[in-house]
Amino acid sequence: MTRPYVASRADEVLHRRSFDVLVLGGGIAGMTAAIGAARRWRVGLLTQSTLEETTTFLAQGGIAAAIGEGDSPGLHFEDTLKAGAGLCDEEAVRVLVNEGPDRVRELMEICPRFDKVDGQIVLGREGAHSLPRIVHAGGDATGSEVTSALAEAARLGSRVQLYEDEFVIDLLTLEGRCMGALTLNLADGGLTLNVAMVTVLATGGAGQVYGRTTNPAVATGDGVAMAYRAGAAVRDLEFVQFHPTGLAVPGQKTVQLITEALRGEGAYLRNAAGERFMTAHDPRGELASRDIVVRAMVAEMRREGTDHVFLDATHLDAGWLQQRFPSVTAGLREHGLDLATQLIPVAPVCHYFIGGVVTDVWGRTTVPGLYASGEVASTGVHGANRLASNSLLEGLVFSDRVVRDVDRYIGRLGEDVRRLSFDIPEAVMRGRSSDAGEARRRLTGIMQSEVGVLRRREDLQKALVELGELTSEIRFDVMGEAEYQVLNMLTLGTQIAKCALLREESRGVHLRDDFPDVDDERWRRHITLRLPEHERSEGVGEVRRRG
Ligand SMILES: Cc1cc2nc3c(=O)[nH]c(=O)nc-3n(C[C@H](O)[C@H](O)[C@H](O)COP(=O)(O)OP(=O)(O)OC[C@H]3O[C@@H](n4cnc5c(N)ncnc54)[C@H](O)[C@@H]3O)c2cc1C
Repeated sequence: MTRPYVASRADEVLHRRSFDVLVLGGGIAGMTAAIGAARRWRVGLLTQSTLEETTTFLAQGGIAAAIGEGDSPGLHFEDTLKAGAGLCDEEAVRVLVNEGPDRVRELMEICPRFDKVDGQIVLGREGAHSLPRIVHAGGDATGSEVTSALAEAARLGSRVQLYEDEFVIDLLTLEGRCMGALTLNLADGGLTLNVAMVTVLATGGAGQVYGRTTNPAVATGDGVAMAYRAGAAVRDLEFVQFHPTGLAVPGQKTVQLITEALRGEGAYLRNAAGERFMTAHDPRGELASRDIVVRAMVAEMRREGTDHVFLDATHLDAGWLQQRFPSVTAGLREHGLDLATQLIPVAPVCHYFIGGVVTDVWGRTTVPGLYASGEVASTGVHGANRLASNSLLEGLVFSDRVVRDVDRYIGRLGEDVRRLSFDIPEAVMRGRSSDAGEARRRLTGIMQSEVGVLRRREDLQKALVELGELTSEIRFDVMGEAEYQVLNMLTLGTQIAKCALLREESRGVHLRDDFPDVDDERWRRHITLRLPEHERSEGVGEVRRRG
């Protein structure tokens, strides 16, 4: 049975803070929401680490927006829908592509380092986009450039109170409404009740559930797990995007991504025999959508009995490669590889969580007072397969919408949340203590080998048994960041395996070896999970009003 709260330290001294708007997470989605909301409200921005330790910071390719000559929101709409393989929410995609260009122009005003030639913005091309439409900064350093600009704006905004090294454990709910979050300070171990009229969940993705991932250490899926415990609907969790070109060399903690933009600029994929193979699988060749490229790579690797193929940029100009892809070339050099002269071993790697907390087109979740934006959310724009460079855009567009709706929501609320009191439950997990590191190794091993790129019923069933055993064995005497993360990852890993087993078809990024075709009749629909009502109102984590 899932409890509404995973927190279990009733005897700790609780600090207390109150805000109008509480933003959880400091990537593009969280910072955009915090900066926007601070124009009107007192905002608290909490992040587990620094503002630089995010997935946003790592983004390479750029941001997709229909701002170029000959482009239009209509074309961007069609490309997004086509990639989404029948599961996009058309209303959400329309919002994304129509509002995207304005949001990107606004971002360019605070982030002046977007790449230009003769004053004109340069547009890159990526897989499954019908024409060049990706704005980028610092060559392939879009994420770090955007992060610096937004962080400066957030830090300068006098109404944003920033708390780094603050780990969010649970969302606080009162009579079904979200009223803030309980956090653990990673420096002094103190627990704080952060009470707010509105809470914006922007905690990003969950690549760490797979171990071999391009995602940073903070991407442990905490947001989806805590929102589920708080009663929010979550969906599409089986749609985990594996990026085709993760660097395939051993010993990497976070797998280096070789951006799709390189194929956009003409790099080829070759098999072990040195042959280009993509054109045999799709007329768009290396620029087919990610799911198609991954399928083709897996087929080639199986046929040849290898665990990687090669990316070939040796026919492109060395000086230009260095200038256009400085981060990629520097990263490869650390592994003794030279993009300009050598074939680079690549293999699919866990990269992006398409599913998440269900929202409408204003970022509202199914729990009043709780909004979600960015990778943690399921707005419906990605369908069954995210189009490259649409995710930074999603964070920008929907966080802006969240801010607009928050103004309306708070206007209607009129309740003094500062007077509310929350009881955190007694410790419930006593017994022989488990090792969080060992539990995590078991979990990621199961996910990688049994719930990975290509799935089969027997493997998924085995994974569910093993994940169930791990869940029932786990006992933590002392709860800290690592223990909370393992519990969240176990919740999410189990949900992914369950949904992947249910979906008996191959669609978008969800590939079933035993059901290789799309089955529109049975499966052109979402799988949505929500904690049953009686478990949501369970005794632990009860909330009462003061006085
Ligand atoms: C290597 C790489 C390259 C990419 N390139 C591109 C690209 O070119 N274009 C594109 O559109 N997309 C790209 N993506 C995807 C994109 O970067 C992400 O989807 C996007 O940045 C997510 O932004 P976000 O704000 O939702 O989350 P993040 O940027 O991941 O921010 C999450 C925040 O939540 C905080 N957090 C998480 N859990 C907790 C917790 N329990 N308590 C407190 N805080 C918490 C973290 O500390 C962090 O501040 C790339 C992804 C990767 C991994």
